Amino acid sequence: MAKSLCKWKKKDIEKQVHELFHIVNKPRFMCKDCARAAHDKGFLCKPIKIT
Ligand SMILES: [Zn+2]
Repeated sequence: MAKSLCKWKKKDIEKQVHELFHIVNKPRFMCKDCARAAHDKGFLCKPIKIT
């Protein structure tokens, strides 16, 4: 699995934009530290479920 979305730098985003589409598609979790969202909590450092 890819490293946490929270750790992605601008450079990572540019290189992996297609993977990013997949990760943020239909998000079920968000990070309460970084305000990022993902479909799997494994991509976030402080995940909480979106209700
Ligand atoms: Zn985070």
